[in-house]
Amino acid sequence: MQENFSLKPYNTFGVDAKARYFAEVTTIDELRDVLNFSKMQTLPLLFLGGGSNILLTKDFEGLAIQLNLKGISEEFLNENEVLVTAKAGENWHEFVMHCLNKNFGGLENLSLIPGNVGTSPMQNIGAYGTEIKDIFVSCTVLNLENLELEIFNLEQCRFGYRDSFFKQEGKGKYVILGVSFRLTTGNHNIKTEYGAIKTELENMGIENPTIQDVSKAVIAIRKSKLPDPKETGNAGSFFKNPSIPLSQFQELQQKFDNIQGYRNENLVKVPAGWLIEQCGWKGKQIVNVGSHKLQSLVIVNATGEASGKEIFDFSTAIIRSVEEKFGILLEREVNIL
Ligand SMILES: Cc1cc2nc3c(=O)[nH]c(=O)nc-3n(C[C@H](O)[C@H](O)[C@H](O)COP(=O)(O)OP(=O)(O)OC[C@H]3O[C@@H](n4cnc5c(N)ncnc54)[C@H](O)[C@@H]3O)c2cc1C
Repeated sequence: MQENFSLKPYNTFGVDAKARYFAEVTTIDELRDVLNFSKMQTLPLLFLGGGSNILLTKDFEGLAIQLNLKGISEEFLNENEVLVTAKAGENWHEFVMHCLNKNFGGLENLSLIPGNVGTSPMQNIGAYGTEIKDIFVSCTVLNLENLELEIFNLEQCRFGYRDSFFKQEGKGKYVILGVSFRLTTGNHNIKTEYGAIKTELENMGIENPTIQDVSKAVIAIRKSKLPDPKETGNAGSFFKNPSIPLSQFQELQQKFDNIQGYRNENLVKVPAGWLIEQCGWKGKQIVNVGSHKLQSLVIVNATGEASGKEIFDFSTAIIRSVEEKFGILLEREVNIL
């Protein structure tokens, strides 16, 4: 247990905020011990994975717990499927690579997403046409009220677009300790329809891609588009893509004939990056904070010196201008603390 601990290396924005207490745990017993300490002191809790989806707007007056539980196991279910379970502290991308090395399919489109396995159910991480709900079986959690272990299945997790039970009613009530996925061992379902995967595979000269090829294509696309948090602080997409009623979308089409949208029954999902770009934010910098020059959905700590408050205020300015121009209220994807 450390006191007045800088969380700068523990959040990918690189914001220098402090936690009153900090502990790193590698076992469930250690976790129970620090949770008992926090109960005695009535301290608020902050669980940390890779810190790639949080914005610390101020010092944290509680106990920050870095979950460093490690381990991956597998159980073959039938000729074509394997159940792979990883503990919360496993790095997500390393876990994806581990599965690909064993030729287990299903995670390849989710290559290179920062963060840890334990956090993946929090917002049902997704990219390039796959979300974890597509291969998720269950997760083991610790109930923070009684410190008992529980298992949540797919239905109980209530996954939605960048959303889950753990981000809604279950917020602050559970800590995720491990996640199990059902992956394929052969006859893989290769998904190349989404984004630029097909074009990238063509550029690579690949006609019949394997799951490993799809992963390489996804990695290449992501590297060309997104800033590396090790070089420029960021938390990926700062906002969710908003879904608006079809009638509102049709009205907007009258005014903005190049507005993009993806229809899902009576709702239309509009790319937040496009809306932000239309408001002139792409590549714009105000003092220490900027909108990324290639992807306006990503807010960056441009100088490395930004405070969380500055980043938050920048995001508020973006929300205001999108609302003014389009009447659409953007929702932040990043967890604000
Ligand atoms: C460059 C970049 C690209 C990204 N691209 C994508 C993308 O394509 N798709 C996508 O979905 N996301 C993307 N993200 C966002 C991020 O990587 C994911 O949300 C990731 O799952 C966050 O994991 P983490 O371990 O870093 O979470 P943290 O930032 O450490 O935690 C996020 C939240 O979950 C809580 N939490 C952490 N661990 C646990 C736990 N075990 N139990 C309970 N609560 C917990 C934290 O308290 C916090 O509220 C991107 C981020 C970056 C920086």
